[in-house]
Amino acid sequence: MSENRVVQGRMVTATRLAELIEGESVMEAESIAEADADCPECGGNVLEVGYMPSVTEFVTGRKCQDCDWAETDRE
Ligand SMILES: [Zn+2]
Repeated sequence: MSENRVVQGRMVTATRLAELIEGESVMEAESIAEADADCPECGGNVLEVGYMPSVTEFVTGRKCQDCDWAETDRE
């Protein structure tokens, strides 16, 4: 169901994008969406994905399509 996107020159699924943000495997990820923001590092396009790193946690992560910049909404 999720649409693949190119991130740093590689086609990624929503799950793979979430794993890039999280730095490890995730249980489940929603579809990739456009974040309404530009990358603070390089000005590139930012993608957003909601995912569950574990059964008890839901995180919204953002990742630049062009560089290593990423963040989550964790407190
Ligand atoms: Zn960037």
